[in-house]
Formats: sequence, structure tokens, C-alpha cells
Amino acid sequence: MTAKHHPDPSSLMSYAAGSLPEANAMVIACHLSCCEHCRKMVSDAEAVGRSLLEQLEPVAMSEGSRNQMLAMLDRIDPGSSHPVFRKDTGNIPVALQPMLGEDLHKLHWRALAPGMKQFVIPASVGKLRLLKITPGTSMPKHSHIGSELTLVLQGSYSDELGRFCAGDVADLDGDISHQPMADTQEDCICLIATDAPLKFTGLIPRLLQPFFDL
Ligand SMILES: [Zn+2]
Repeated sequence: MTAKHHPDPSSLMSYAAGSLPEANAMVIACHLSCCEHCRKMVSDAEAVGRSLLEQLEPVAMSEGSRNQMLAMLDRIDPGSSHPVFRKDTGNIPVALQPMLGEDLHKLHWRALAPGMKQFVIPASVGKLRLLKITPGTSMPKHSHIGSELTLVLQGSYSDELGRFCAGDVADLDGDISHQPMADTQEDCICLIATDAPLKFTGLIPRLLQPFFDL
């Protein structure tokens, strides 16, 4: 299956430059493992970055900067093959397995609202979570103060922007207001990175928000 919705090119460029917050970088890494189109964009951007580096006049670097640079180059090594995202089984993408194991269904999901459960994944910068929505359930309508980067791992949802299936990414900023609804017979499980709380439109979700930690 080929993804129909991809991250914004600016997100891919930032990922290639190593400047995305950790939570967002994890979502992009998981998408790359199932999207050749975006892998190519990232590797092209990395090549441009490398050739720019090569054109710089050599200057002596401090030991600290040199180590930082070497660590960064390790991270963007094109030889490090991107793992295969087994979306057919609903398994956790390989990039997330060190933190979560290999089976989405064995996680200790926390109930959030009727038909909605979440599992928060520790991230040093930004918020990263898995959200599970039962078929026919809608999230409350919301927009964003910051960005919201979502990758569908299993099932699908529809909102004002279209239909998002396993492997698809929604890369949203504060201008977009939407109300995703799980629209197939299986639970929709998404990996979501946010850098600020969501902005709910309705009164009840707004009152409950502090308890949901959304
Ligand atoms: Zn893609």
C-alpha cells in the first residue's frame, strides 16, 4: 500500500537537517519506513546538506562541536536502512519498538473518553502519544496552537481534509480545525506528535481537557 498523504516538504527538510523536535522526528521516521517517496526526498536533502558542508572553508573545531557534528552525521547516514513498517499487521513500527515492544495491542492503554484510549510515549522534546479510536467514534472538533503531526498505524479516519489510512500522515498547523472520525470496522490507531495543547471548540471538551492531557 502506498501512502496518499505525506508530511509537508518543510517537515522532511527539517528532519533531514536534524532540527525537528524528537516527537515529530519519530513520527517522520516511522512514515519513512513505509514511504519510498519521502525517503527519496530526505536522502536528496541530506545529499544537498553534505555538499554544502563540503564547500565550507575548513576551520578548526572545538572537541565538543566536532563530537556533536560526528553524532549528527551518524544519524543521517544514508546507509542506515529504514526499517519496514509492517502496517498489514498493525505492529509497532521498528523505530518505536525499543520503547514499546512489538505489539500495539499489548500496551496498557488508558481510557480517555468513550471510544478513545491513549498511550503516552516519553519524548524529550514535544509530546508523543498513541491514540486508539473505536470505529464510528469522533474526536471532539479541535484546532491547534502549535503543530500536530499524525501517522496512521492501523485502520483509518476521515475528517475535513480527507481520508487517512495506514501509512498516511497529516501534518497540520494552527490554522486547521478538524474532527477526525474512525471510519472502518477496526480500531484506528495513530501516532501523534504535538508541541502545544490542542484547542477544542466545544465547551465540554474544553472543560475536560486538563484531565485528558491532550
Ligand atoms: Zn511519504
